[in-house]
Amino acid sequence: MLSLSLREVLHLIKTEQISARDLLKKCIERATSVRELNAYITETHELAWSQVGLAPGKSELAGIPIAVKDNFCTRNIPTTCGSKMLDNYVPPYNATVVDRLLTSGAVLMGKTNMDEYAMGCGSIDSRYGPVRNPWKYKFQSSARSSVIIQSKEGPTSGGDWYIAGGSSGGSAVAVATGTCFGALGSDTGGSTRNPASYCGIVGLKPTYGSLSRYGLIPLVNSLDVPGILTKTVDDAALLLRIIAGRDVNDSTTVSESLHLTDLDDQPSVKGLHIGIPKEYNAPGLCGETRRAWEDVANALETAGACVSLVSLPHTQYSINTYSILCACEVASNMARYDGIEFGHRAEGNNMSTESLYAQSRHEGFNEVVRGRIFAGNYFLLRKNYRRYFQQALKVRRLISDDFTKVYGDGVDVLLTPTTLSVALPYSKFSMADNRTRTAEQDYFTQPINMAGLPAVSIPVRLSESGLPISLQVVGQRFKDRVMLNTAKWIEMNTNFQKLNLDYLDS
Ligand code: GLN
Repeated sequence: MLSLSLREVLHLIKTEQISARDLLKKCIERATSVRELNAYITETHELAWSQVGLAPGKSELAGIPIAVKDNFCTRNIPTTCGSKMLDNYVPPYNATVVDRLLTSGAVLMGKTNMDEYAMGCGSIDSRYGPVRNPWKYKFQSSARSSVIIQSKEGPTSGGDWYIAGGSSGGSAVAVATGTCFGALGSDTGGSTRNPASYCGIVGLKPTYGSLSRYGLIPLVNSLDVPGILTKTVDDAALLLRIIAGRDVNDSTTVSESLHLTDLDDQPSVKGLHIGIPKEYNAPGLCGETRRAWEDVANALETAGACVSLVSLPHTQYSINTYSILCACEVASNMARYDGIEFGHRAEGNNMSTESLYAQSRHEGFNEVVRGRIFAGNYFLLRKNYRRYFQQALKVRRLISDDFTKVYGDGVDVLLTPTTLSVALPYSKFSMADNRTRTAEQDYFTQPINMAGLPAVSIPVRLSESGLPISLQVVGQRFKDRVMLNTAKWIEMNTNFQKLNLDYLDS
């Protein structure tokens, strides 16, 4: 039952073939048997039992278990951002998107693990330890023996495993392993699409402004969007419809409708104009991913879509532009964590206020966060402001204009890979520093945030080594539905076999 989609279990509950309580019991058992993957920072099973009792059968989500990344505020539940800085933080309110899920009858399984403050792309930079990818993972708790995984680079054995991707790796693993049927992530440069791609599930980053960021602890306010992780495109569309819409608490939300009726049963791509950005045929793109990309593009063409090469000439500047804008907004956002008003406070009585700030921030933030604060303050110095921050804003505009031009020329959606390759083994991934990793991992996902566009990652096949390969469909602003229908067509025609961990239950 745990490998079913959200819609499938919802149907079973609504037609009284299963009860929401039985479903919750199974999800909790599963969460316990896959605990070694480290997907959750806080489990809220007791709360889930009380919520499932209250969720009326007629409510839209009728007691469906969900998970929430630990950078969304949740009332009376710790919200840590994967950081020591927020170790003891218990928000008095719910983020708007969390509230909308809960009032629709969803049941909260817990808060998921993540890179500290969402800065990363592997979910290995968390105070609570790394998240592990369930694909090819040999569970200690299962009857099977030692952990041996194979990678193209050669076998990695002993204690190695594949990364889950990030920064919303906990949410992706929570969904892929069947501990819940949908999860919230956040997406600033790819953090929802990247882990979804490595874990073989759907990761949706909706149009900027369609979802409220109220209660989402910010990374880069002008790029952050709540993300949705589910097993199918239909599930993602359903959750998007429930949580989208104007929020008086977030002035960047708009009332523009996403026209989110259910997706077409049999979506058609006839006459759809699909662009293939030539700059995305990037150095480092692995052969298997390129082939999957070509095969899907060919299949779309055969089905009547008009597929053509397009150009997004400023793509190569996106990562550097991002790292400047990100550092600047981080420097300003993180200023609130002073150990007095907010956040972890260092011990000791004989410190000046300055040293208390410094010591608390040194202890509370990891090296990645501190590095970005440092860089951001440098870029924002009066003498540097024009050269870096203002210049980056101009380049951001050029990147965004690239998309506007392509869409203006009649393209409906773009098709690209989500990542350069399949998930790397932890031993290999952890050798590079956070900045290098981000430059490689976010290449295809990050420009989309610069332009505020919607994008969705969908798994299409397994690599020779048995790991998911995913593609990304990018839509026009507020045309999320067209994009999702295209993604659904791809999903139906590639027929990706979801991860099945039912053997853990026996
Ligand atoms: N990998 C990028 C970073 O480290 C993006 C992260 C995200 O989307 N939250 O900043």
